[in-house]
Amino acid sequence: MKRAFKYRFYPTPEQAEQLSRTFGCVRLVYNKALEERTRAFRTDGRKVSYLQSSAALTAWKRTEELGFLNEVSCVPLQQALRHLQAAFANFFAKRARYPVFKSRKRSRASAEYTRSAFRWSGGTLTLAKMDTPLDIVWSRPLPNRAKPSTVTVSKDAAGRWFVSILVEHEIVPLPSVEAAVGVDVGIAELATLSTGEKIDNPRCERADRRKLAKAQRALARKGKGSNNRAKARTAVARIHARIGDRRRDHLHKVTTRLVRENQVIAVEDLSVRNLVRNRSLARAVSDAGWRELRTMLSYKSAWYGRELLIVDRWCPSSKRCSECGAVAESMPLRLRQWSCVCGASHDRDVNAARNILAAGLVER
Ligand SMILES: [Zn+2]
Repeated sequence: MKRAFKYRFYPTPEQAEQLSRTFGCVRLVYNKALEERTRAFRTDGRKVSYLQSSAALTAWKRTEELGFLNEVSCVPLQQALRHLQAAFANFFAKRARYPVFKSRKRSRASAEYTRSAFRWSGGTLTLAKMDTPLDIVWSRPLPNRAKPSTVTVSKDAAGRWFVSILVEHEIVPLPSVEAAVGVDVGIAELATLSTGEKIDNPRCERADRRKLAKAQRALARKGKGSNNRAKARTAVARIHARIGDRRRDHLHKVTTRLVRENQVIAVEDLSVRNLVRNRSLARAVSDAGWRELRTMLSYKSAWYGRELLIVDRWCPSSKRCSECGAVAESMPLRLRQWSCVCGASHDRDVNAARNILAAGLVER
């Protein structure tokens, strides 16, 4: 199984310069190839293949105005064409929308290096066109004897540099356990379990949000194109980055624990779109990041030999009594506790989590 390990690194000024130039060339090649493919498709309904794009790239490099493409490693440029090819394949298979141009401001700057474009030896990583290895912060070790197959370098809006290293990784399934759990993804809490446990959203999130709002107000006051505006924009990006990091970190801990402790995990197949229609929920839903939670549960279950059950979203999980099966007529969101005609009293979310688990086991 291939697995990516991501680290921060601190480039030398020369490396930063080389990488920034590479990012620019990657973006240019991607956009130019997209433009040509679009023209071919719109004007004469012709599909352009990867090989044709690749031949065009070779021709561009020979022209005077695009000769600077030769100053960066050719591999990230080829990879950009492969990514474009994949984007078109997804579009033609109706899995994705028509590919869009990469923007200098809005797209994440990145460059992908395959095996021939980097040197990996003695735990150091040196990219093509560079004399010195990257100064990587090894926040966690790469697996023993790992052989990187692809390396992706990127820079986020907060100005932080990252390297993502793809390695072949053998994952040993966890010993099987008896426990099964239902997970109700919530608004007040991140999640409620059928065991009755409530899992909170990451701590500091609220304080971070306040800081973010303040930084955004400061940014709005700065004059367009000013130096101070650029600084304020970086400040906003830094806070965004920190919120994202903390949330992801928290979700990793939660999902790893759920997968470790349970053989079977049942979650509801909620559609974000349904929830987002209700504006008051929109913020909370995106905050909880439950889409990410579900993704993590899904791949971690696969890694460790666990079973993830996705329950149909129309099952009335909040309205049904998990003791007797009676369905209550209405269940407004503000109602956190309720009692059933059978005499059972329920915490709304725990009851829902129990129903999700039961429904998952039935559907299986
Ligand atoms: Zn009941």
